[in-house]
Amino acid sequence: MSWIYSSSVRVGNGYDVHVLEEGLPMWLCGVRIPSAKGFVAHSDGDVAIHALCDAILGAAALGDIGKFFPDSDPEYKGIDSKKLLSKVTALINDKELNGGKRYRIGNVDITIALQEPKLRPHIETMRETLASVMGIGKDQVSVKATTTERLGFVGRGEGCEVWATATIISKRPLFHK
Ligand code: MG
Repeated sequence: MSWIYSSSVRVGNGYDVHVLEEGLPMWLCGVRIPSAKGFVAHSDGDVAIHALCDAILGAAALGDIGKFFPDSDPEYKGIDSKKLLSKVTALINDKELNGGKRYRIGNVDITIALQEPKLRPHIETMRETLASVMGIGKDQVSVKATTTERLGFVGRGEGCEVWATATIISKRPLFHK
């Protein structure tokens, strides 16, 4: 006997920018990156996780990160963004919020634009960290990094820009034969 499933796949995108300042910690994809500059933010400033949360919430049409975790709320001051990602993963799995469906993450793809430092040595740890927070495999998580060839605010080292895409999947048994 095997079940026949109906599955639906949805896609979402997310985008975020944070300002860089000397002497602040730099967190990206849940990993502490050694750097002279870090992010000015209400939370730990993990701009990559923020873009990713928006992509996942967008896929479920649930709104954005500011709706669930307002930066005016002292509860989220200095918060580890991994906790936000973990909550977002739970939100898409909540039947009440999603018209009776439970979504799980299919795959995610993140592009980070940062002039320095070079992120290549940290990419594998980033993928492992995000995968473990979302409860999915490392092969479902892609993290890419680029500079902007010293052009624009990213190129001048004034900020970091991140784009994220996520697919979410709901699967429900139709019947078995
Ligand atoms: Mg942000």
